[in-house]
Amino acid sequence: MPFWTVDETHAPDLESWVETANGHTDFPIQNLPYGVVSIDGTARIGVAIGDMVLDLAGCARSGLLPDRCVPACQDTTLNRLLGLPAADRRILRSRLSELLSDPRHRPEVEAHLRPAAEGMVQLPMTIGDYTDFYVGIHHANNVGRQFRPDNPLLPNYKYVPIGYHGRASTIRPTGIPVRRPCGQQKAPDATAPVFAPSKRLDYELELGVWIGSGNRLGEPIAIGTAHEHIAGFSLLNDWSARDLQAWEYQPLGPFLAKNFHTTVSPWIVTSEALAPFRIPQPARPDGDPAPLDYLADEQDQTHGALSIRLEVLISSRRMREMGMPAHKLSSGPASNMYWTVQQIVAHHASNGCALQSGDLLGTGTISAPTRDGFGSLLELTVGGKEPITLPTGEKRCFLEDGDELELRGTAYAPGYVPIGFGECSARILSAPAIP
Ligand code: CA
Repeated sequence: MPFWTVDETHAPDLESWVETANGHTDFPIQNLPYGVVSIDGTARIGVAIGDMVLDLAGCARSGLLPDRCVPACQDTTLNRLLGLPAADRRILRSRLSELLSDPRHRPEVEAHLRPAAEGMVQLPMTIGDYTDFYVGIHHANNVGRQFRPDNPLLPNYKYVPIGYHGRASTIRPTGIPVRRPCGQQKAPDATAPVFAPSKRLDYELELGVWIGSGNRLGEPIAIGTAHEHIAGFSLLNDWSARDLQAWEYQPLGPFLAKNFHTTVSPWIVTSEALAPFRIPQPARPDGDPAPLDYLADEQDQTHGALSIRLEVLISSRRMREMGMPAHKLSSGPASNMYWTVQQIVAHHASNGCALQSGDLLGTGTISAPTRDGFGSLLELTVGGKEPITLPTGEKRCFLEDGDELELRGTAYAPGYVPIGFGECSARILSAPAIP
C-alpha cells in the first residue's frame, strides 16, 4: 500500500468524544501521535488526543486493542511498537481512531484517559544512534556564503546527502533546560584559543526522523522501500555553539559544538498520520545533476516531501517578566530540503550500515530562501553582524541566558484537518563553573 494512502482515520469531518481534540491545533483525532509518559512514576506508552493522553497499556489490559499489538503497547518505549509491520501499525491506528471517535466506546475507554498536564513526557524511543544531515539547501547556501562567498556549496553537495554522526546520550525531550556549554574558541585575531563559555550559542530548526525498523548489517535499504523504515517525525533543535564549531570543525566536522544537547518534541507524528500531507519533492534547479540511481525513485519524487509549516519563536527573561508573548523569529515550509527523508535513509544504509529501531535522523537546518524563513541565528544575524531586536528593545546576535526558544510545526493540506507536532522548547541556563 503506498505510503501516501489516505483512509477513514484522516476524514476531515471525523470528531472525537474527547471534546478538547476537536479544533486542537496539534492533536485532533486525525493525528494520534505516540509518546511515552510517566504516570505515577511509571513509564507508559500513550497517544495524545486534545489535551488528554490515552494510556495504551491500560487499553491493552482491558482487551480494547488488536491482539497482535498488545505486547508492544505494554512496553515502556516505542521501539517495538513502531518496529511493527506497517500493516499492523495501520490496524492499531484505525482501532484507536474508532475508540476515540465512536461515543459507544466512551465508557470503556474513558478510564484510560489522563490529562496531559499530569504526566511527564519522556523520550519516546530508546535512541541507539543519532545522525544529523544537512539537506536544507538554503541553509547550506547561507552558511557556505559566510565562509566562501563565491563558492558556497561544496562540489559533493548535489550528489551526497551530507551528514555526520551525532550523540544519542544528550537528546532530551521538550522542557529540559539547556546548559550553556564551555569550550575552546579562538577569535580571528587571537594567536591562541581560550576555554570559556560559548558566546555564540545558536539553535537549528530541523525535523527529526524516527526509524521504526532497521536493516541487517551489510544489507542496504532500497530507495523504493526506505519509507517502510520511517515510523514518524518530530521537531528537532540541534543546539549549536558557533564559536566552538568554527575552531574545531576542520578536518573532521562537528563535535563538541553540537553534542552537548539536542531537543526533540516527544510525540512521534506517524508516517501514517502524515499521508495526506505528502507532496512532490521540489524540482531541482536546471543544470543540477540527477540523483545517482540508488537515490532515484519516481514515487519518492512525486510523493516524498512533506507539507509542513515550521516556525521559530523566542522569549527573553525580560519579555516573560513583562508578560509579552513569544516573538516569531521565522517561518517557512519543510519542503526546502534538497533530499527527501527517504533519500537520507537509503543513503545512510547504502554502505551496509545497520539502522536500528529508535535511531533518530535530523534533516539539518531547514531555511527558506528569504530572511523571514531562516532557521538559525547564524543566518538571521549574518554570523552575528546584524543583531535582531526583540519587542523589549533588547538586541540578539546569539542566545542569552534565560532565553527560551520554541519550534512549532503544522502539517496542512487543502481539504484535511491540520495536525501539529506539539511542544519543542527549552530555556538557556548559564554555563557551569569552569573546573
Ligand atoms: Ca544541524
